Amino acid sequence: MGVFKLGKMTFGSLFKKPETVLYPVQTKEQPAGLKGHIELDAKACILCGMCDRSCATGCITVDKQARTWSIDRFQCVQCGYCITVCPKKCLSMDPNYAPASTVHASDVVEVPEQDKPVKAEKVQATEKPAEKPKAAEREPEPAKAAETAVEKTRDDVLEAKIALLDEEKAAKVRAALAAR
Ligand code: SF4
Ligand code: SF4
Repeated sequence: MGVFKLGKMTFGSLFKKPETVLYPVQTKEQPAGLKGHIELDAKACILCGMCDRSCATGCITVDKQARTWSIDRFQCVQCGYCITVCPKKCLSMDPNYAPASTVHASDVVEVPEQDKPVKAEKVQATEKPAEKPKAAEREPEPAKAAETAVEKTRDDVLEAKIALLDEEKAAKVRAALAAR
């Protein structure tokens, strides 16, 4: 590199904004997909412990009794495997790095109680069931009504046939019918 070119670069950098930022006071916007740190959506977590059992470095601890989910960020290698095993999809990879720390401690997240399903209340019957109509008030059932109609038709036919007989025979037939 020539002296002229080097001098131009050095001189130019005096007037350019610095490429670095004053981390952690300032942070750069991270590109999407960068493996920054694991985040938990505590409202969706069911404390099943799948992430705890699957983590390769053992940095997640799920305490069902205390209802806490904790992560040791010093041990997490941002592999993202816990995200894939979570049945509730409540773990995600935040592209920003976790804040710098000099103390080795775990981040503990309290998991709130899930909303319990509201039990269906029994509705008390306040109105008496409608009383059944008495037998005499009831309308004839369709089958019975049909039977009655058939009987009526038969009687009419019989009566018409009897009317064609002479008086003596008609009297005999009527007597026989009455004796049945
Ligand atoms: S990203 Fe990997 S190392 Fe980090 S908590 Fe999840 S499974 Fe464990
Ligand atoms: S974060 Fe997901 S896998 Fe881990 S305990 Fe909660 S629901 Fe289960």
